[in-house]
Amino acid sequence: MNDEIASHASRRRPVDLEGRLASSGELRMTTELTRIPMSRSQDSYFEDFEFATRPDIAALQFPRLQASIRHALEHSALYQKLWKEAGTTVDEIVDVATYFKRAPMIDKDILRQYRDETNDPFGGILCNPFGDLSVVGSSGGTTGDPTLCAERWGKPSIEHYTPREYWHAGVRPGDYVALMIVTMRPPGQRFFQDLGIKPLLFNHDPRELPRLIEWCRKFRPSVLMFVSSIMLNGLEKLEKEGADIKEAFSSLKMCVYGGEPLAPRAKANADRWGLKLYAVTTPGDIGVAVECSMHDGHHIWEDHVLAEVLDPQTLEPVPDGGRGELVVTSLHDQMMPLLRYRSGDLVRYTTEPCKCGRTHMRFWPLGRAGDEVVVNGKAILPIDIWPIVESLEETSSGLFQIVRPARDLEYLTVRIGYSGLPNLSSLSERLAHAFHQALGLVPVIQLVPDDELLKLGPPHKIPRIAKR
Ligand SMILES: [Zn+2]
Repeated sequence: MNDEIASHASRRRPVDLEGRLASSGELRMTTELTRIPMSRSQDSYFEDFEFATRPDIAALQFPRLQASIRHALEHSALYQKLWKEAGTTVDEIVDVATYFKRAPMIDKDILRQYRDETNDPFGGILCNPFGDLSVVGSSGGTTGDPTLCAERWGKPSIEHYTPREYWHAGVRPGDYVALMIVTMRPPGQRFFQDLGIKPLLFNHDPRELPRLIEWCRKFRPSVLMFVSSIMLNGLEKLEKEGADIKEAFSSLKMCVYGGEPLAPRAKANADRWGLKLYAVTTPGDIGVAVECSMHDGHHIWEDHVLAEVLDPQTLEPVPDGGRGELVVTSLHDQMMPLLRYRSGDLVRYTTEPCKCGRTHMRFWPLGRAGDEVVVNGKAILPIDIWPIVESLEETSSGLFQIVRPARDLEYLTVRIGYSGLPNLSSLSERLAHAFHQALGLVPVIQLVPDDELLKLGPPHKIPRIAKR
């Protein structure tokens, strides 16, 4: 079986079934605005534009920005309303700087409010009739009620993946991808077609792991997307029952994880099994950004996204290398364009060239602006709590929630999941000691069975912050 599959794995560019390739045979992105020829000279990149000069990037961005604004103002009720209220017209946007000065911002709350007032499930930013959509999915809803995301597979088309990172990691047409994606997200069908790769489908559910192992042995996929701490913990259990995880996953060139950072224990297991981990995140809900081979930040593809990093309090731009809130504008999305969308994500960023050869800016996610708690002046994010919870055997699943009725708190309250039937008062005491060692404070600890917390999952992660 394996030999047969290998012999079918063509290394050639995908065949143009739908006339989406240029006459020269170049593969092109399907969106009208993103038609850029593919690299011929440098086979490790998917497109030449990945290493364009900064002036070339800027030269491409402004005409796309103008087109995006015109399109949005023509078709979106929400932007028409907001720009009218701000007294801003498209004609006065003569460059990117005026755009940053004059264009009104939006955020999730504005979209939700518009949605609730008008019954428009897309919050007033959908620029096409509902009937034009190919698929509708949603966000995980861990930061509130989920927001919708849609794809269109015809023209104009839009979806949320690019082949760039996968191509760079050595994924080639004919390869299989083990797809353990959360099904509420649109799966990126055009991405599979453009890259010529074949998905193997699994639910994001630990009960699927035995089949995943079996199929990885059979099909030898080059990508697993995506894994989570919950899945990696499940694999560790199967390993204890005798499964050879390292052997089963030895064909993988990329093992993509996202949604939240991997818990230290899950990460250590993945390293032990030789998994080549790549973090995926989203640049402010416009598409996805997988780490590059340098594992030193996520590239924002600046032909798709115009990014700002602003101080969340003053809304002043943060200098290169600094930290702030990521604010994004889509340059290629004609379906649900985001214009100056405040992501609520705190990031560090730089436009310094990357060692991988790309020139597009990089960012490092630090956490949600809304996740931070400040306990007697000490700022704490979920990532600070994780290793503490995992350090004890009974709570090694790393399932916990920070109880955050407000940002500024007098004391920290943490809800922590446990497995088995431990002595709860002893467990509580040992956790308190570990917290004191690591953070210099003792929180109020609420112990609940792991299964109770897993019920809150969407299912690849649970909300790390709870109001009560
Ligand atoms: Zn890079």
